[in-house]
Amino acid sequence: TKYIVVSGGVVSGIGKGVIASSTGLLLKTIGLKVTSIKIDPYMNIDAGTMRPQEHGEVYVLNDGGEVDLDLGNYERYLNVTLSRDNNITTGKIYREVIEKERRGEYLGKTVQIVPHITTAIQEWIERVAKVPVDETGEEPDVCIVELGGTVGDIESAPFVEAMRQFQFRVGYKNFALIHVSLVPDLHGEQKTKPTQTTVHSLRGLGLLPDLIACRLLHQEPVSASTKEKISMFCHVAPEQVFGVHDLESVYHVPLLLQSQGIIEYLRKRLDLGSINVPQKAA
Ligand code: ADP
Repeated sequence: TKYIVVSGGVVSGIGKGVIASSTGLLLKTIGLKVTSIKIDPYMNIDAGTMRPQEHGEVYVLNDGGEVDLDLGNYERYLNVTLSRDNNITTGKIYREVIEKERRGEYLGKTVQIVPHITTAIQEWIERVAKVPVDETGEEPDVCIVELGGTVGDIESAPFVEAMRQFQFRVGYKNFALIHVSLVPDLHGEQKTKPTQTTVHSLRGLGLLPDLIACRLLHQEPVSASTKEKISMFCHVAPEQVFGVHDLESVYHVPLLLQSQGIIEYLRKRLDLGSINVPQKAA
């Protein structure tokens, strides 16, 4: 299985979910089977006990799991059926580790966030990524993992550390990271400093972005000079910088990403050509 992790920086709610689903959709168009996991770094077991003003709309899965609306996006974009296990929360991970501790399965060891919580996160992801989610009943080729919250939060720290370890667990060719960052516009000038800062802290935590998706909260696309500057200061090649401005419809985001070469980039980076794709009549 290939894993594509989507993290976010600067502020939440900038369209990480939409970028993650769109990437999955594009990979589906080249014949790959795609599944997804959403990580919500809160202590609640699920969204079912949170009031709507607190959480926003709660999405109900086929198995009754009450989760974030992002999972609804995945089901619609990818035409898959997900289960409650496709949503990981801090609460679910802690519950699993604590129950295991009570059964004595840690054999007298001190149970810690690193390595026990971080290992539980990785094992959960590997287990759920292999579960078939469409009518073929086959194991997915790619799993999109969306990390909720922003990198640098206390809440998301164990998950960020788990992902740092995970890149070695699954290997370079099986792990890519898309970091979504905000590029604010100050009186017509696109500012790159928040992106520089968040990429800097990401690197400090041991994660290197393969793609930097720059969210612009207006209808102006990212300028060539902004892309160049981000490439320069964030130590990535220019083709690794993507612009995602506001579109009429979020269903246009896949085309915007495709026009900037995301499929070609991921194909090369994750060696997707090595995956056998069933031949479809054109
Ligand atoms: P996050 O996962 O970062 O919290 P979401 O993907 O849920 O963010 O997006 C937040 C909101 O912004 C949603 O209402 C979504 O429809 C909207 N949105 C995201 N990307 C775009 C875009 N490129 N153009 C217009 N609206 C967008």
